[in-house]
Formats: sequence, structure tokens, C-alpha cells
Amino acid sequence: MLSKNSFKNVCIIGAGPAGSFTGYLLSRKGFNVTIIEKSSSDKRKVCGEYLCPQGVNLLKKHGLIDLIEKYNPIHGMKIVSPSEVSFLSFFPKDQIGNIGASVNRAIFDKDMRELATRNGCKIIRGATVSELEKRDSQWIVKTEEKEMLADLLIAADGINSSIAQKLRHKTEINTKRIALHVYTPIKDNKYYSRLGQMHILKDGSYVGINPITPEEVNLSIVCSKDLLKEMTTKEIINNAIRSSKELRSSFNELSEESQISVSGSLRNRNSHIAGEELAYVGDSAGFIDPLTGEGIFNALQGAEILSQSLIASPNEKGLVEYKNSRAKYFREKNILNKIFQIVIKYRFISELIASFLKDRQERADTFIGIIGNIYRPLEGIRKIIFNH
Ligand SMILES: Cc1cc2nc3c(=O)[nH]c(=O)nc-3n(C[C@H](O)[C@H](O)[C@H](O)COP(=O)(O)OP(=O)(O)OC[C@H]3O[C@@H](n4cnc5c(N)ncnc54)[C@H](O)[C@@H]3O)c2cc1C
Repeated sequence: MLSKNSFKNVCIIGAGPAGSFTGYLLSRKGFNVTIIEKSSSDKRKVCGEYLCPQGVNLLKKHGLIDLIEKYNPIHGMKIVSPSEVSFLSFFPKDQIGNIGASVNRAIFDKDMRELATRNGCKIIRGATVSELEKRDSQWIVKTEEKEMLADLLIAADGINSSIAQKLRHKTEINTKRIALHVYTPIKDNKYYSRLGQMHILKDGSYVGINPITPEEVNLSIVCSKDLLKEMTTKEIINNAIRSSKELRSSFNELSEESQISVSGSLRNRNSHIAGEELAYVGDSAGFIDPLTGEGIFNALQGAEILSQSLIASPNEKGLVEYKNSRAKYFREKNILNKIFQIVIKYRFISELIASFLKDRQERADTFIGIIGNIYRPLEGIRKIIFNH
């Protein structure tokens, strides 16, 4: 039961996985939640569309199996080093399950929005916040057409969070990297399997592949922004395909009709996270790099931590609890992701690690278990070094 001094009216900005899941969890417990979403159409986002096993498990834990059972499963990853040492890895069986999913983001995000509205959460689509003002301990949130009062503002508006920019919580980072994204068919059905793929290229770029269907493989490349000075986006992707025997065998070069999307924002650092009637969740709270394909899970997990903290203490205490629990939960992962950035930058380290993992199947599987969040990073590293 919410008491008189509790946060009661909550306004969430952004209906991606973070905003919609927070809206669902809070409205289920009696909070009066409104979500403002700027997009009015259901379109796919620039995303590898891979939901890691722990993301699948999180939805299952909440009884939401219907949200994921329609998608094709992912059982592991093929990993290819710059000199094309390649190995297959399979998510290890553990008490928490070992299946990821290929999720079409237009459908997944729509389902998440519908989930949010199951308990009375309202979603206003096609609207953005034009003005944001704090009066006493309440937020006045204005869109072009509406004005509302909120006891708590939750920014779930993604990596380029306009709320964090307005409130000067976004720390500028020059990433020098971009992501190019395309849907392309597999060359021949014999190359189709329910494994994702990660190719580290010689120049430190990497290609992520998610086999949505044989006709529609989600291919993303993260590379230096400088390449755009020399080549078109299509040439960059074709160059990558040409440069790798593994990629060449699975894909034809892109045709004139291929639709390539570009994402220039691959990192976000936020200096606030939570407090003073405000919380950031999902990418708006921070994002390191899409390399390990965990953004959707992190968004859902962040939403769960925030909601649980607010349900236990629907006030500033809950926000402090969220900030601390979130930091604790993601600390090891953030360190590991930073280490991965170094590994892909230095070719000899990538080669050493690839050979070490390829040497034993259990090592490779444990490694992918860490990336799929089946193991906590330290737990997984200990398993790799001491158990196998
Ligand atoms: C190249 C690339 C590949 C990736 N691949 C994967 C992958 O395979 N697996 C994975 O798990 N993650 C992947 N990610 C990351 C993943 O896409 C994000 O982490 C995830 O979408 C975060 O969810 P979110 O709800 O925080 O933000 P978003 O999904 O970005 O949702 C934010 C929402 O806020 C809305 N919004 C923005 N501004 C405003 C505003 N001012 N007012 C109102 N609404 C607003 C947007 O329209 C959007 O719907 C990838 C990212 C990139 C760049």
C-alpha cells in the first residue's frame, strides 16, 4: 500500500524494454504510471536482436514465457579470431537455463508496451518532452499537447537520453566508433544454424551475426568512424565480408538494394543514476559497447532492480537502494566489458584467448556462459581457470 508521502504518480520517458518493463512492474503494484514515447510507429531498432539466456530467464521468472516462445532459439556462438581461428561454443546447462532468442525488435518492443498496459499503465505515443520543470518535490512534464505532474520521473529514453542532456547528467564521450547494420540472407542453407556469430577482424572491428531466419540474418559491424572518410557504408560491410573466409563462405556481398542503418552512439556515461525524484534505467543510465549483446537484458534487469527497490521503499530511500543495488549488480560486468574492449583492440591478445578457449570445449562453453549471463564473471573465470 502506498502511503501519503510515497511516490504515487510516476512518469516514464521512453517505451523501450527498460521503460515498458518498469511501467509493467510498477503499475502491477498500484503505482499510477504514464509512459511518454516519442515514436508512433513500430519499427526495428539498430540492434543485433539477440536476447541472452539470462534475459530469456528473467522473462520466464515473471511468468512471461508468451513474450519469447514465438522467437527462434539461440544455443550458443561461433567465435572467429582475426586470423580466423574459429570455435563453436554452446550455452552451458545450468539451473537457470541455457537458451537465448532472436527477437525482432519491432515485435518485441510492441509486446513489451502491451505488457506495460496490462495493469493500467498509460502510454502516450508520438510525444516528446518539450519542457521539464521541478516545483517543490514534483516534476512538471510538458509535451506539445499535455502537461502532467509526477512524484517520480524515470528516464528510459535510451543511449542518447534527452532527459540526461537537459538535466546535464550525460557525460560526453567521444567513442570514435560507429555501428552499421543490415539484414541480409545467408548464401546457402547449409551454413544456417541456431548459433550466433562473433567475428573479430584484423583492424579491431567486429561483426555480430544473428540468424533470425535463413532469409534474414541480422548483421552488424562495429568499426572506426574514420572508415567513412574512405568508403561508403556498403563498401565497409562488403570489405569485411571479402576480408574473411568465414564471412565470404556464408554471405554474398551486399546488393544495391540493401538497406544499411548507421548508429553513431555506442557509449553512454551518466553522472546521476538516481535521487531527487529521478531515476535513469536502461541505456540512459549507461552503456559501454554492444560487443557482448546484453543491452536488452541489462535494460530488463535494471527495470527489475528499480521496481523492486521502489516497491520496498516508494520514496528517496528506494532510489538510493536502486542506485546501490544496480552498481553492485553491474560492477563485475562493466569491468569485464572494458577488458573485452582491450582484447579486441590488440590482435595478439584476441589470438591468445581464442586458442586458449578453442583448446577445450568446456572452456569455450563457460566463456559464452559468462557472456550470456549464465555465470557471474568471476564465477565463470574461476571455472575456466580452475575447473577445466
Ligand atoms: C549496433 C548495436 C547492436 C546491438 N545489439 C544488441 C543485441 O544483439 N542484444 C542486446 O541485448 N542488445 C543489443 N544492443 C543494445 C540494445 O539495443 C539496447 O541496450 C536496448 O535497446 C536498451 O533498451 P532501452 O529501453 O534502455 O532503450 P531503447 O530500446 O533505446 O528505448 C528507448 C526508447 O525511448 C524513446 N525515446 C527516446 N528519446 C525520447 C524522448 N525524448 N521522449 C520520449 N521517448 C523517447 C525511443 O523512441 C525508444 O523507444 C545493440 C546496440 C547497438 C547500437
